[in-house]
Amino acid sequence: MEGNIYLKTTAKTILKLVLPFLLIALSYIFYQKTGDMSQPQLDMVKLAPYVLLLIGTVISWKFNRSREFFILVVLGLCLAAVTSLPVIPGKTAPMNPVDIYSVICLMIPFNIGLFSFFKERGILSLWGGIRIGIILAQVLAAFWLMNPEQANLLALVRRDFLPGLHSFTPVPQSALVFFFAALAILVLKQIRNRSSQDISFIGVLCAVFFVLHDQRDPFQYSISFAASGMIMITSIIQDSYSMAFSDELTGLPSRRALKQDMMKLGINYAMAMLDIDHFKKFNDTYGHDTGDEVLKLVASTIKDVTGGGKAYRYGGEEFTILFPGKSINEVVPHLEELREKVSKRAFTLRRTGRQKNKSKRKSRSNSRSAKQKQIYITISIGVSQKSEKNKTPDTVMKSADTALYRAKKKGRNCVSK
Ligand code: GH3
Ligand code: MG
Ligand code: MG
Repeated sequence: MEGNIYLKTTAKTILKLVLPFLLIALSYIFYQKTGDMSQPQLDMVKLAPYVLLLIGTVISWKFNRSREFFILVVLGLCLAAVTSLPVIPGKTAPMNPVDIYSVICLMIPFNIGLFSFFKERGILSLWGGIRIGIILAQVLAAFWLMNPEQANLLALVRRDFLPGLHSFTPVPQSALVFFFAALAILVLKQIRNRSSQDISFIGVLCAVFFVLHDQRDPFQYSISFAASGMIMITSIIQDSYSMAFSDELTGLPSRRALKQDMMKLGINYAMAMLDIDHFKKFNDTYGHDTGDEVLKLVASTIKDVTGGGKAYRYGGEEFTILFPGKSINEVVPHLEELREKVSKRAFTLRRTGRQKNKSKRKSRSNSRSAKQKQIYITISIGVSQKSEKNKTPDTVMKSADTALYRAKKKGRNCVSK
C-alpha cells in the first residue's frame, strides 16, 4: 500500500512533466497531416489557436492567473502578426515577413521570461494595468522597429555574433540569448517551487522555439500556438484540481479528498481521528506562525503512517487516517508507533515573533543554543472500525471522534479504541 501511494505520486509527477511535451509531439504529428486536408479543414486549423487562446485567457482570468493571461495575449498578437500581417491587401509598404519574424523571435521568449518572473498580482488591478502597458509598449516598439528607417537597428537584431551558429538555426542569435535566459529562469524556478506553471511555460517556450526554428508554413504556426494554449489550459486545470483536493499548509489531502475517499471504502475498514494536544496553548506561547510550522512537521510525520493508512488534514490541528480493509486490532500497533514517533520528534524553534522580542536584549550575550529551543509535541488518537453498530463511514468517524475524546480524558498522548 505504501509503495502503491509512492508509485501513484511519482506517476503523477512524471505525467505533469511529460504532458506539455506530449502535446507538442501530438501537435507535430497533426501538422504533418495538414498536407492531406481540405480547404474547410485548413480554415478550422487556422481558427483553432485563436479559439484556444481565447478560452485560455477566459480561464486564466477566472482562476486569477495573470501570468498565463498575459503570455496568452502576447502569443495571440504574435500569431496574428506572423500569419496575417504580411498579406494585408492594398498596403503600400507591406510589413516585411522577415522583420516580423525577427521581432517575434525576440518578443515571445522576452515576455515568457518577464511574466514568469513577475509575482501573481491580478489582471484587473493596478499591476495588471502596468502589465497591459508593457505589452502595448512592445507592440508600438515593434511597429517602430519595423519601419524602413529603423532598418539598421533591426539588422543589429539579426546580426550573427557567432557566425558558425547560423547554419544550425534561423532564429537570430540575439533571440537565442532571450530563449536561453527564459529557459534558465524557468528551470531554476521549477527546481525550487516544483509548480506545474513553470513546466507549462517551459513547454510553451519549446513549442514556440521549435516552430520558429522549423518555420515551414502558417499552419505550423497555428498548430504550435494552439498546442501552447492547450498546455497552459491543462496546467491551470491541474493546479486548480490539486488546490481543491490538497491542503495548502501541510500538503496533505484535504477534507474534500477525505469525503470522496470515504465513499470508496469497501466492506471492512478502520478509521482514526488524531488531534494535537494543547495546541491552543502552544499557539499562545510561541505564536501562530510557529504553530503553523510545527503543524507542517507533525503533518509530515503523520503522512508517513504505516499499516496501509492514508492521512488527511481534517481541519485545524486535526487529522484523519483511513485504513481500507483493516480492523482496529491490525492498525493499533501502527497508530501507537506513529504517536510515539511524533512525541519523540524534537522541533527546533528559531525564536521568531513575540519570542524574539522578549529575548532581544538577552540574545547578544547568549550562546547559539540558547536562541534555539527544542520542543516536543504529542497527539491523541481515537480509532474505530466498520461494525454492526457503526455501519457507515460517517458513523465510524463519529465513533473514532468519541474514542479521541476518551484519549484526551485519559491524559492525552495515547491511542483509544
Ligand atoms: P486539546 O486538543 O489537547 O484538548 O487542546 P487544544 O488546545 O489543542 O484544543 P482545541 O481543539 O480547543 O484547540 C485547537 C487549537 O489549534 C485552536 C487553534 O489555536 C489551533 N489551530 C487550529 N488550526 C490551526 C492552524 O492552522 N494553525 C495554527 N497555528 N494553529 C491552529
Ligand atoms: Mg482540536
Ligand atoms: Mg487539540
